Amino acid sequence: MTQQPPDDTNRQLGECPHCGRDVPVGAFCGNCGASLTAPAGGGRLHSYAVSPGEHVARPAIISTLFPHLPQRHANVFREALGVGVLIVILLAALRLYTSALIASAVLLPLLYLLYLYEAEVYEEEPVAVLVATFVTGAALGTGYTLVTQHFAAVALSGNVRGPFITGVVQPVIAQLLMIAGPLLLYARGRFTETLDGLAFGITSALGFTLATVLAGYWHTFTAPLVGEGAVSADVVLRVLRAGILVAIVNACTSGTITAMLWQDRRGRAARRRAGSWRGRNAAIWVAFLTQIALGVISYYIGSLVGLVALWALAAVLLLVWLRILLHHALLDDATDIGVGPTSPCPECHYLVPTMNFCPACGVDRQAAPKQRRAAEGGTGMAPSHG
Ligand SMILES: [Zn+2]
Ligand SMILES: [Zn+2]
Repeated sequence: MTQQPPDDTNRQLGECPHCGRDVPVGAFCGNCGASLTAPAGGGRLHSYAVSPGEHVARPAIISTLFPHLPQRHANVFREALGVGVLIVILLAALRLYTSALIASAVLLPLLYLLYLYEAEVYEEEPVAVLVATFVTGAALGTGYTLVTQHFAAVALSGNVRGPFITGVVQPVIAQLLMIAGPLLLYARGRFTETLDGLAFGITSALGFTLATVLAGYWHTFTAPLVGEGAVSADVVLRVLRAGILVAIVNACTSGTITAMLWQDRRGRAARRRAGSWRGRNAAIWVAFLTQIALGVISYYIGSLVGLVALWALAAVLLLVWLRILLHHALLDDATDIGVGPTSPCPECHYLVPTMNFCPACGVDRQAAPKQRRAAEGGTGMAPSHG
């Protein structure tokens, strides 16, 4: 389904006030992505580079963690996520606690694996990517849980596990393990895009979190499937936190680190803002300090409601932080590639010149599903050189 723009403005060229290039006249500069109509201009905070209809500072799960989905597919995933959460709550309300816990732990990883398949993030190497991210993350998560549980059992006699171990050491180790698999891919240098790094970090974190939940609650799986007594809101909250909130937090911190590592390797833009608040080092510090803060506060927090509120707040803030970083990283990634051949935009479906950004809707072509870009032979996705 392709449409012509209302007029033939995309054939006319005009100078972009932000990058100074002659670009097709439209709502956005196809070269640097700046808004040519809104006063916001170069930063275009009202229009997220992955999903131009959304504000950058919106705590949205799908358009942040699943950036390669075009709008229509994003809606399907959004509905699936909503239905999944309802099923988890329903199972918990029916006192099928084990099923509720498994459903909440599996929900996001399952959606993410479907997403990798849908967008073909792994290109021709699905097995290598899955092993380096999801499988490695899950294996390390299992090992991590078994070791920490072993030490917890040993420590029961003498309480050696203070806030420093549970609040600082364990979160730092967990975070390092979550990015270990993606670093193998980083070392190989086969995948070059910022959004590749993001997907690898998230996949690994979700595999790790799934394994820690399943291994950590294994003892409850051998208990009767249906719980005793009245349903307590406590159980619902506990299940939602363990399976979903922790997964979102881990996906965000790991995705931030790997996305910024990958973007940094692209060079130019990264060097320009090496010491900036949205440079690689700042992103890594924020990710680790957030995990430490959550670990320490969770150690001292007494109430379950407080704990869930803390993790929900962290998930929201991290989603917004990740979006801000991604948005600017994608704008920074753009290099001058000229005006390419006309092709349908994967987001708005107008026939537009293939450039870094769609001149009509402003979406970054890096955020298009990979197989579609390959089919178009578009130049917008080519890794930049020079
Ligand atoms: Zn421009
Ligand atoms: Zn478009």
